[in-house]
Amino acid sequence: MLKISTIIIILSFILVTNTLAWDLGKEGRFQFEQVNDNVYVMHGPREEPNPDNYGFMNNPGIIVAEHGLIVIDPGSAYPVGLEVLKEIEKISTKPVLAVFNTHVHGDHWLANQAIKEKYPQARIYGHPAMIEQANGDTGLYWVDMMERLTDGKTKGTRVVAAETAVTNSQTIEVDGQIFKIHSLIPAHTNTDIMIEHVNSKTLFTGDNSFNQRMGRFDETASMMGNIKALEYALGLDIKTYVPGHGQSGSSDTAVKPFLNYLKRVQQVVEAGFEEELQDFEIKDRIIAQFEDYSSWAGFDINFGKHINSMYLEVEKAAW
Ligand SMILES: [Zn+2]
Repeated sequence: MLKISTIIIILSFILVTNTLAWDLGKEGRFQFEQVNDNVYVMHGPREEPNPDNYGFMNNPGIIVAEHGLIVIDPGSAYPVGLEVLKEIEKISTKPVLAVFNTHVHGDHWLANQAIKEKYPQARIYGHPAMIEQANGDTGLYWVDMMERLTDGKTKGTRVVAAETAVTNSQTIEVDGQIFKIHSLIPAHTNTDIMIEHVNSKTLFTGDNSFNQRMGRFDETASMMGNIKALEYALGLDIKTYVPGHGQSGSSDTAVKPFLNYLKRVQQVVEAGFEEELQDFEIKDRIIAQFEDYSSWAGFDINFGKHINSMYLEVEKAAW
């Protein structure tokens, strides 16, 4: 039986650990957790950007190397980056050597600013199209949108884009850690890279995969391309998948549910298209079949849009 003093020590440890985590009020407490050897992820809220979360909703990752750290997608804004850095330092106080940005959506990379401010030598990697878009109107659009959706909480955030371009099949070594780039675009966007940490068999899928959450497909996206990218990802020798949003895990939990969802959307839209139904008619007819997905964050706002986007792709493929 445990002694009272032991119980008190355990309880106070739990209390201290929780108190130290980044507290975002009703959004929850956030800290890095180990998902694989030398790999840590802070799983963000599955919400949309709002004043309570400062736009933080993604999954910043870190890889601990011998002399420093490699960061994947540090987050949505300058103040978020400062908090992510505080949480990083609880895992390791080694300097950040490099950053990878998975794609151009601002919730993943606007926190680059905080990293670069503290570690000016850190090299930031991204797809060439991502670098171009982030330095252009798209970057400014995201800065502005984050500020609006958070009621100004992200004020002071500015574009600090990746400067080092990486392309499909490229291998990069940072401090003894090997990263392989997989870029099958268009998928979630036309700027996506998936980052394989070869040493630990971890794949950072970016927003090509979500867990228990829906996301939007912008005008550069291809839902069918997203299906191909995820099928490809399943063929890699990977132990841990880190989705863009939602919990990390095996392919069964972190990839296949979203992939199956996309495939079912394609299937019902193709069937409806054959019958010459319009997208809204397809949605009304099949929504009950998607009951299993209705608990996923963002289902209500995104489902109709997904049917519409897939309809446009099926229509285009039929030409
Ligand atoms: Zn995205």
